[in-house]
Amino acid sequence: MLSLSVNVQRLITQLSVPVAVTSVRKTCVSYQIELPAFVSAELAGDPVDQIYADLASHLDVCVICLSEYEALADLTASALADEDLL
Ligand SMILES: [Zn+2]
Repeated sequence: MLSLSVNVQRLITQLSVPVAVTSVRKTCVSYQIELPAFVSAELAGDPVDQIYADLASHLDVCVICLSEYEALADLTASALADEDLL
């Protein structure tokens, strides 16, 4: 599975980042950049908790990113609903 190996590759890349760097949390901005892809993947039924594990766990603890996510999810869902009406 190509997509699986890409994810594994990404995981390995993350794991190989020096501890000093990983101990500094990614900024909210870097998570919010991933949100559109996260929402699309979620709507597509992809296992976002696995694909975007970092982001998913960040949303559990960060109200700022969670509200960004909710706004984006609402927007995307209503855009899709509009398409269904056509
Ligand atoms: Zn955040």
